[in-house]
Amino acid sequence: MTQHALVTVRLEEPMVAGKNPRADSRQDSHNHVPGSVLRGALAAVWLREHGTEANTSPEFERVFEGEGSFGPLHYASSKPVPLSMLTHKYEPTDECHTLWWDQARGEKASHCPNDRCGSQLEESKGQPYGKVPSVDRTMVALSTDGVALDGSLYSQRAVQDGLLLRGWVYGDAVRALYPEGTAIESLLLGSRRSLRGEATVEVDTEAFPEPVELYGEEVVLRLASPGAFVDEFGMPSATPDPDELSEQLDVSEVEITGSWTRWEEAGGWHAASGLPKPVERVVAAGSTYRVRCAEPPTDTARRRLMTRGIGLRRREGFGALYRCEPPWGISSFTGHAAALRAHPELVSRFQARLEEIRLDNADDSQFDDALRSTEYDDRIHQAIQAVLTVKDAEIYEQILRYMEQNR
Ligand SMILES: [Zn+2]
Repeated sequence: MTQHALVTVRLEEPMVAGKNPRADSRQDSHNHVPGSVLRGALAAVWLREHGTEANTSPEFERVFEGEGSFGPLHYASSKPVPLSMLTHKYEPTDECHTLWWDQARGEKASHCPNDRCGSQLEESKGQPYGKVPSVDRTMVALSTDGVALDGSLYSQRAVQDGLLLRGWVYGDAVRALYPEGTAIESLLLGSRRSLRGEATVEVDTEAFPEPVELYGEEVVLRLASPGAFVDEFGMPSATPDPDELSEQLDVSEVEITGSWTRWEEAGGWHAASGLPKPVERVVAAGSTYRVRCAEPPTDTARRRLMTRGIGLRRREGFGALYRCEPPWGISSFTGHAAALRAHPELVSRFQARLEEIRLDNADDSQFDDALRSTEYDDRIHQAIQAVLTVKDAEIYEQILRYMEQNR
């Protein structure tokens, strides 16, 4: 078994992953697949294969209740904007070069320096990067006994089908992806059985994780999911344990030199006993730490930490990590977009790609022929490459609008 695996799911049906698993009426839904939902879906397959009595076997406990990590599955726009980021309070203009300032990298400003904009900046609250593709599902409200209540249809937001969502599984938890010895190919995701949420699954054990960010001798850790940390007395802590970090980064000593966090509460559901878990204080997704290391950690250690995550309850999806580069403003692309205006056949191909970007499912190889074609000069080749780097649907849409103007 490898130490980590990249899991990619494609939603074949809309998915509702409720934030409160036992609320039977209207409930808030996650915009991604939380690690706990992935783990629950895999455990259900395991118990179907091995029999429900297998849930007390040593192997089940090692895989599902052990030290491994089930990370959340995200797509580009469902990731949180890190809490260290200062963002535009008002809509940025087409001329703003910088959209976010990252305090974790020493960037500071109170207003956008662009004269035409001058927007006040505000601290991120950990909101998603961008618009979340969703559909409304009509549901029947159920009583606590699971009986449909009369006349209580209501509609609920569900994550749109067609999306690709990705995340890491680490350590003993990787075994969960092989319930019958071969990699799992489909799963039912979501907390409401009535909605199913069928998804196809791809398990990639060759995928190379990105390392956590390193600036000189300091790493920046950003949480893709809430983090559960405790201090030396076992009380909730807003920061990770330095001993854990120095051990996992394989350095002699670390010091947390900056933190941008927000408290929230996390409940949970203990499947075996059917009882709710006590509510715990955790830090919100998007929380960010700057950590000074006695010596720079190796690339290998930083890649491993990215797939493992930090803190407690990692098997329930807590403490997952991600990298974040602030997006470029549209002004960085207007020169390229203007050059492309002269080629309507390319503009229409870029238009067709918008829906793929929204679903985080873009196939850039379909531009290979244009990039090789001598019909276009270098300027156009560069413009195509620049636009292909844009993964944010809202910025991509603005670039399209710019291409379509004044044609
Ligand atoms: Zn601005």
